Amino acid sequence: MGRLFQFCILLILFILPFSRPSLEEIYGINFVGNWTETEKRYVYQAISHVSIALQRQVNYPYPCKTNAELFKEVFGITKDNPLIIEKRYSTYTGAIVVNYYHIVFYNFFPSKDRSIRLIVHELGHVFEHNIFLNTEEKIPREVLKETWITDKTFPRRTFPNNYYGYYGLCYDWQMSCHKTPAEEFADMFIGWTYDKWETSPQGIIRKQWMDTNMPIFINASTPKLSQCSILYPLLINPIPY
Ligand SMILES: [Zn+2]
Repeated sequence: MGRLFQFCILLILFILPFSRPSLEEIYGINFVGNWTETEKRYVYQAISHVSIALQRQVNYPYPCKTNAELFKEVFGITKDNPLIIEKRYSTYTGAIVVNYYHIVFYNFFPSKDRSIRLIVHELGHVFEHNIFLNTEEKIPREVLKETWITDKTFPRRTFPNNYYGYYGLCYDWQMSCHKTPAEEFADMFIGWTYDKWETSPQGIIRKQWMDTNMPIFINASTPKLSQCSILYPLLINPIPY
């Protein structure tokens, strides 16, 4: 009996480390290419920041699903359809979204925070793509384009490099710096994630637009956002780094 007990304990100790789901499984992402542990942490932190913003928008003050569950639901990620996050060698700093669920990163910035904001910007594109897949409703770039037509006071990037209502300059809190509505939306997605904008009339206008439209966009992206029966405590930083 004693031996059997010891054997069972050893078996459990052996199996336990292998049975815990990885962060890749928990968040439904698939790393492809040569990632350093530091770069992977940037990705997890960016996803964590976006998830917390989703909780704030959807469930505050009673989040009823984990950050990872909400993230996967809103981004249309399933076990069979993970978000592919690829790293490719290049001398170029930046990233592209190659299709709905596939982001390719090149080099990151020397600054950790800027690198994380670059990932949040790309997640903004994926978020929009998922709306496009799930609804006939207007996607964010179309709504923003209409806003520019109907409201001439709504801020819009022109050159040279300036704040335009964002919390920082180009390649800091504006990761694309291009003038298209798709790129402006992805940068406003950064502002919304951190709720940080320039303290100016332009910043207030952008913040109000995102606060008004993001619940509509989230609904469009996830028309069947499941209701919850269990209440979880708000996980401020679920990533163990
Ligand atoms: Zn972009």
